[in-house]
Amino acid sequence: MQNVLDFKRVGQTINWRNAIMVTSFHIVAIGVFFTFSWQNLAALVIGNWIVGSLGVGLGWHRLLTHRSFKAPKWLEYLLSSLACMSMQDPPDKWIATHRMHHAFTDTDKDPHSIRPGFWWAQIGWVVWGKAQDHDKATLQKYVPDLMKDRGHVLISNFYLVPIILSIGVFWAIGGWSMVIWGVFARVVYGWHTTWFVNSLSHMYGGRPHDTGDMSTNNWFVAILTFGEGWHNNHHMWPTSARHGLKWYQFDQNWITIRIFEKLGWAKNIRLFNTEREPIELKQAA
Ligand SMILES: [Zn+2]
Ligand SMILES: [Zn+2]
Repeated sequence: MQNVLDFKRVGQTINWRNAIMVTSFHIVAIGVFFTFSWQNLAALVIGNWIVGSLGVGLGWHRLLTHRSFKAPKWLEYLLSSLACMSMQDPPDKWIATHRMHHAFTDTDKDPHSIRPGFWWAQIGWVVWGKAQDHDKATLQKYVPDLMKDRGHVLISNFYLVPIILSIGVFWAIGGWSMVIWGVFARVVYGWHTTWFVNSLSHMYGGRPHDTGDMSTNNWFVAILTFGEGWHNNHHMWPTSARHGLKWYQFDQNWITIRIFEKLGWAKNIRLFNTEREPIELKQAA
C-alpha cells in the first residue's frame, strides 16, 4: 500500500476538467461562511435529501445500478434526473463506474480501489487519470440496459439541465446566497459524503460478512448517506434493496423504498438471500 497522502497514481496525469470543476465548486462553497440564513440551510438540507437520497442513493444506486426493485419508467427518469444535480457525471458513466467497482472491488481494475489509500478512493480517482471518462465500448459492456433506453440516453446527454434549472429556482426564491447554499455547497457536501462510501466504508467499520474485499459497515457514513454506509452488507448482497439489516442500522433509502411500495411505485423488491448472489458482470469480465 502506498502512502495514504500519495493519491497521484503512477503514470496518470491531472484530469483538468474535473480538477477545475471540483476546485471552483469548493471555492464558491466557502461563501456559506458569510451568507448564513435558516432558509439557505433548509435549501441545502432539503436539496441534499432530494439529490443525495432520492437521486443518487435510491435512483442511480439501488434502482438503476443494481435493479434491486422494479419501478415505472416515469419514476426511473425522475429519480435519475434528480441525481444529475449531484454533478457526478451523467448517469450512464456513474452507473458503469459503480458496476465496475462491484465487478473488480479493491483490485487494480476498480476505478476507486481503496488499496492506494484514503485520498485516492476519496477524490484522487476523480481529479487524476481518466476518472469516469468511459468510451462507448465500455459503456456498451457495463450499461447496455441504459444504452437501449431512449429516456435514459436523453437524460445522460442533457444531464446538466436539472442543475441549471435549480440555479434559476434558488435564485428566484432567495437570490445568489441561496444558490451558494442550495447548489454549490450542496454539491460539495454530496461529493464528499458519496466519496466517503468509497473511502471510509472500505477502511473503517465492521466486516461481519466475508466478502473477499475491504468493504465495511460504517455508521458515520450511513448517517451521512441515508443508509449507503452499510457497505459490507451491500457488497455481500449487492442486489438487495435493503442495506441496513439490523434494527439499529438506520437505512433511510430502504424506508423510502417501502413507502414507494405502499404507493404502488416499487415492485419485485429484491432482498438478501442466505447464499451470496452472483454478480453477472464478474463472470462476463
Ligand atoms: Zn464498495
Ligand atoms: Zn453498489
